[in-house]
Amino acid sequence: MQKNLYIPIQMIMIFLLILFGILFFLPDKTETKKFLMPMSVEGQLDLTDIEFCSDFTGFLNGDWEFYWNELLEPDDFLLESFEGELISVPGPWNHQPEGAQEYPALGYGTYRLRMRIKDPTLIYALHVREIYTSFHIWINGQELASGGKPGRNKEETIPQYNSNLFPFTTDSYEVDILIQVSNFHFKDGGLRDKISFGSLKAMHKQKVLSLMRDFFLFGALIIMGIYHLGLFQQRKEDISTLLFGLYCLIISTRILVTNDMMINWIIPDLPWNIQIKIIVLGYYVGFPLFFTFIKTLFPEEVNSNVVKMVNWSGLIFSVPVLLLPPILFTKTEVFYQIIILTASLYAVICVTRAVIRKRNEAFWIFSGILILFITVINDIFHALYISNTHQSLVPFGLFVFVFSQSFVLSVRFSRAFTIANTDELTQISNRHHFLIEAERFFQKSDRHQNPLGLLFLDIDFFKKVNDTYGHDGGDHVLKIFAELVGSQLNPSDLFGRLGGEEFAVLIPGTPTQCIALGEKIRATIEGSPIIHNKDEIRITVSIGVATTKDNEAISLKKLSKSADLALYEAKKSGRNRVVLG
Ligand code: GH3
Ligand code: MG
Ligand code: MG
Repeated sequence: MQKNLYIPIQMIMIFLLILFGILFFLPDKTETKKFLMPMSVEGQLDLTDIEFCSDFTGFLNGDWEFYWNELLEPDDFLLESFEGELISVPGPWNHQPEGAQEYPALGYGTYRLRMRIKDPTLIYALHVREIYTSFHIWINGQELASGGKPGRNKEETIPQYNSNLFPFTTDSYEVDILIQVSNFHFKDGGLRDKISFGSLKAMHKQKVLSLMRDFFLFGALIIMGIYHLGLFQQRKEDISTLLFGLYCLIISTRILVTNDMMINWIIPDLPWNIQIKIIVLGYYVGFPLFFTFIKTLFPEEVNSNVVKMVNWSGLIFSVPVLLLPPILFTKTEVFYQIIILTASLYAVICVTRAVIRKRNEAFWIFSGILILFITVINDIFHALYISNTHQSLVPFGLFVFVFSQSFVLSVRFSRAFTIANTDELTQISNRHHFLIEAERFFQKSDRHQNPLGLLFLDIDFFKKVNDTYGHDGGDHVLKIFAELVGSQLNPSDLFGRLGGEEFAVLIPGTPTQCIALGEKIRATIEGSPIIHNKDEIRITVSIGVATTKDNEAISLKKLSKSADLALYEAKKSGRNRVVLG
């Protein structure tokens, strides 16, 4: 019965994941595809063909005017004209496309973009994400927003993210955007990330959806994390749940400080260097945890030395993050990324090998990693083509990935319980499990109306079987004995091996019904010679019965005692019989 249930549950899970993906990660894309945001040319962006009242939003990509080593304000442009250069946005000013002018990472400058729009009556909004590392925005001479405080040197500059939506109105067809940026704290400077623009309505919708996605992932990961730590608490010998739980908690924390940076709603003045330390530590520590987790799942496929190397490098790279300022430790980031990339490739090879060797659940782990991989490739592909409307699929990939891993852990965990509850020789409940289940059976049953019966079974002269046919013969007899008894029971009856050649059955039934069952079992055993190595082994069984009817034996303990006495009575009065206590 269990096996049949297993497959539909997997189907339902796959179905839910697909549904979730469609509902959550692909909404409002169809409508935006009709338009394509043009690129700005020489600091000018012509949007007069675009109807912004629809759901359309786009990125302000292309060439912006740029004034290096100047922190200009709108009034400055009224007084005199400046000789600006052109710079490509998005992208840090120290990493520009081939052939374009590049600037040192540390410094300051002013960006300017002039747009022409079709409808000045609408409310618009800008969405800035990561700007390195401080900024101040004006629109048509009005201050709009800032993140930290741009300055001309390290002392004057206060670095800060402010990934947010900034609404504004305009009374003309011209929109003049001015952004001061200064960077003295990070390895890259400038408008590294895309800036999106659209009507407030459309931008707001997009922002809410994006926050919802982040928050959903954050919540799902927190719960998975806590759940797996709870599992570890229950079974400490299996550290895979500990590793996975910590991994989930680390990614959920990382989601809080990246993407839409929900942390800035909770702690608006979180110092920038602490935020960047959390972001970097998140994957410096997260990756070794994940890698070690894969090792615990497939110990024979993953080499221990590689695991040690990954863990040591995680540790070695994390210490500077804790101790040094971001400008120093972010420089070594690329080396760690190379390690991660190489180790990831190795992990993929290991998991593929596990799939080929048909290791338990390897297929699910492999699928999770594959889907994550596809979403990463998809996002890189879209980034290369600088698509205007693309939504990142990596969060979804991450979710599927974590979901599949936690599914695998749950399967493994329940299997571990089944193994712990089962008697290896006879494959029925062991003593421990029988007693737990019996207690539950006892609590659940309304035994005053429907009495319960407990049968204790003990094979007669079993020592002789061992002496005559050897221990193997004895084992074989025990196995067949359990099968023969089992064949006389209903699926809902409890049956367990208490130890040695002693078994117990717990069933609902009146004394008469219990004695009848005992008699049936006794007769079956007596009448079924067991074949072992061409020998015919004949055994008999003595059975003691106790029921809850007409006696005060309300507790399982009392019932056991009385069944035990009945069994003793059966042995004493000649064996091969059923006695009611
Ligand atoms: P009776 O119950 O009729 O009084 O006699 P008995 O010979 O069955 O008595 P007892 O309960 O003292 O002996 C049980 C024997 O079962 C002792 C032990 O060697 C044997 N035994 C216990 N566990 C196993 C097992 O897992 N495999 C085998 N082959 N023998 C076992
Ligand atoms: Mg015995
Ligand atoms: Mg015996």
